[in-house]
Amino acid sequence: MKQHLTNPIFSIVSEVADQMNLQTFVIGGYVRDIILKRPSKDIDIVVIGSGISLAENVAKKIGKNTHVAVFKNFGTAMLKFKDYEIEFVGARKESYRSNSRKPIVEEGSLEDDQNRRDFTINALAISLNKNSFGEIIDPFGGINDIENKTLITPLDPDITFSDDPLRMMRGIRFATQLNFKLEEKTLEAIARNKNRIEIVSKERITDELNKIILSPVPSIGFKLLLDTGLLKIIFPEMPALKGVEFINGKGHKDNFYHTLEVLDNISKNTDNLWLRWAAILHDIAKPATKRFDTIVGWTFHGHEEKGSRMVPNIFKNLKLPLDNQMKYVQKLVLLHLRPIVLSKEIVTDSAVRRLLFEAGNEIDDLMTLCEADITSKNEAKVKKYLNNFEIVRQKLIEVEEKDNIRNWQPPISGEEIMHYFALNPGKEVGIIKNAIREAILEGDIQNNFEEAFHLMRKKGEEIGLKLSEKKIN
Ligand code: ATP
Ligand code: MG
Repeated sequence: MKQHLTNPIFSIVSEVADQMNLQTFVIGGYVRDIILKRPSKDIDIVVIGSGISLAENVAKKIGKNTHVAVFKNFGTAMLKFKDYEIEFVGARKESYRSNSRKPIVEEGSLEDDQNRRDFTINALAISLNKNSFGEIIDPFGGINDIENKTLITPLDPDITFSDDPLRMMRGIRFATQLNFKLEEKTLEAIARNKNRIEIVSKERITDELNKIILSPVPSIGFKLLLDTGLLKIIFPEMPALKGVEFINGKGHKDNFYHTLEVLDNISKNTDNLWLRWAAILHDIAKPATKRFDTIVGWTFHGHEEKGSRMVPNIFKNLKLPLDNQMKYVQKLVLLHLRPIVLSKEIVTDSAVRRLLFEAGNEIDDLMTLCEADITSKNEAKVKKYLNNFEIVRQKLIEVEEKDNIRNWQPPISGEEIMHYFALNPGKEVGIIKNAIREAILEGDIQNNFEEAFHLMRKKGEEIGLKLSEKKIN
């Protein structure tokens, strides 16, 4: 392993640890990632003794006023070296109570410290002391498990998961991020201990969920969350999409698996977490709007609007941000059918202007979502739809160049309307503003001041208003 410890921090720690006569190791995620050849910027150092004193001496050795952040309560210390964050901690033994994921912590041996790790692949340690520098300590066969792409707990999985149920989410997250398999008994233990997730804070659960969503193939994680029963506890609206109902021999598609396909599709084209969330939520109101019509079969009328209205509660429950990111997701859910409708008809300029007006800057992301939403197994159909969307995209560009609707501002503002007619705020202002907007979107007038002014005057006269004399000049 020596050849992988080329970062100068390791020789500095090694020297200081020997001077202090402390057994010291690099442990956990950093070691796992060396073997997986994944870049990683967090280095965890564990020492048999005081992590804080070691960190302070390492900082002295580095010099240049290296700052050590000390967390006395946790017995840990952190310093930055170049763009690495290095955390120091004394080896510890943990014992858990049933109602909290905060353990009682005592000093312990390296073995105790490795026992408390979540998976064998995260329990690897490499010695940093000079006489054993680079030697790997792998008590649970973690290297082998990395080679076999297997996630397995070091101890009885029921104990590991019951002690700290967040590990269940971490396990599914690693399975998704790394494309590893959860070993059978480990997976069964997650299903058995699923209810323990209730003692974990929502923020931590959602952190892991977001890491699953940002993985290359997020459906891997969602299927595991579904199968273990965790999904129903942490995000019940999503498993509610699952299932197919038949009436008179007519079924509808399974919206859970459809949603996962859309999510995997979009993940090939974007790293934007919120666009991925829009994919997850685009059909979320299908169960709530499902009806059977004897003539047309299954319908989900209004699911885009209802879905958009469901977003705030879902975000609140998951402790996701309730500001711009949420509004962005709501907008995409609300509009997700619009380009499809467009692509099925002859694409008129006015329909394109309306879409641009409503989608604004989100238009490109909306098109990406719609393209991901094509999950037909019929290749000819897929080709046809994609081709139609290409036409819509072209048309969007043309119309935008011509009419500038994307970030549309009315050519005459409400204040100006009041000014020209010497009006106080009131419904007349709204009537005239709407008339101008509609006329522009319909293409009846151009998007400029002059034509808008004419229409304003005409509309005003229709409702009995007169231009204020002194304002005309
Ligand atoms: P990543 O950095 O990609 O999130 P990681 O495995 O490095 O993954 P960290 O949170 O950085 O995760 O934790 C570092 C190490 O600490 C892990 O590799 C693991 O050994 C241990 N660890 C972290 N969280 C837990 C936990 N909840 N239970 C047991 N061990 C944990
Ligand atoms: Mg880490």
